[in-house]
Amino acid sequence: MHELSLCQSIIDTIEAEARKQHFSRVRSVRLEIGALAGVDPEALRFGWEVVNAGTPAEGAALDIIGLPGAAWCFECQDTVEVEQYYDPCPHCQSHKLQVTGGQQLKIKELDVE
Ligand SMILES: [Zn+2]
Repeated sequence: MHELSLCQSIIDTIEAEARKQHFSRVRSVRLEIGALAGVDPEALRFGWEVVNAGTPAEGAALDIIGLPGAAWCFECQDTVEVEQYYDPCPHCQSHKLQVTGGQQLKIKELDVE
């Protein structure tokens, strides 16, 4: 389950920020996850409960914002929305697409005290 290692790296980032910004506790973490990031939000929530014990983020709420996938369609010459890799263009059904967005997983905001 790679969501567990993702959670661990989120915790690592938070602990580094806690040292840098001198906060001791995180109330909530807002995460942006693209539709093409290959992350299962439920597994991520489960992993989060496991890894946050004993860290500044212990008990912190995980607020997940899902972002759509985006791709450039060479036929339409336009950016279109896709739900997964290798989806055809929703407008012209072409497969000549290049994924341009929706692969990110990042910490958008930390609510700290
Ligand atoms: Zn198209």
